[in-house]
Amino acid sequence: MRVHPPAPTFRNWIWAATAACPVCGQKNLFHRWRKMVNDCPTCGLHFERIEGHWLGAVATNTVASALAVMATIITALMLTLPDSSGPQLILIAAPVAIIVPPVFFPISKTIWTAVDLRMRPLEPGEATIESTHDAPADQQP
Ligand SMILES: [Zn+2]
Repeated sequence: MRVHPPAPTFRNWIWAATAACPVCGQKNLFHRWRKMVNDCPTCGLHFERIEGHWLGAVATNTVASALAVMATIITALMLTLPDSSGPQLILIAAPVAIIVPPVFFPISKTIWTAVDLRMRPLEPGEATIESTHDAPADQQP
């Protein structure tokens, strides 16, 4: 009989949003905020679950950065109307466009891994999950 690990919970999404392992919450996954370990030191999850896995992280980072730039432009536009100008909005949004992608990069990796885990749940043995629930009496040894 195949046993499925539990589906990601709100707690798993919070862990992913803080650049922690979305399975176990381990926080020490990055060296100098750029280089991610291959496997989680706590649960053993291999983060690059399939070839091309990180393309989703790049897409996540691109969408998040674009949303941050759009939010900045809309906010600046609302604050400066009716005297807003294109060059002024570009000067306000440019720092956001430069800073957000590298700062959000590690978080986009853990968020994408959480999204991937939602779409393709953990296979048995892929990670060590410590259960907080007791197994039902009929499944105990
Ligand atoms: Zn982990």
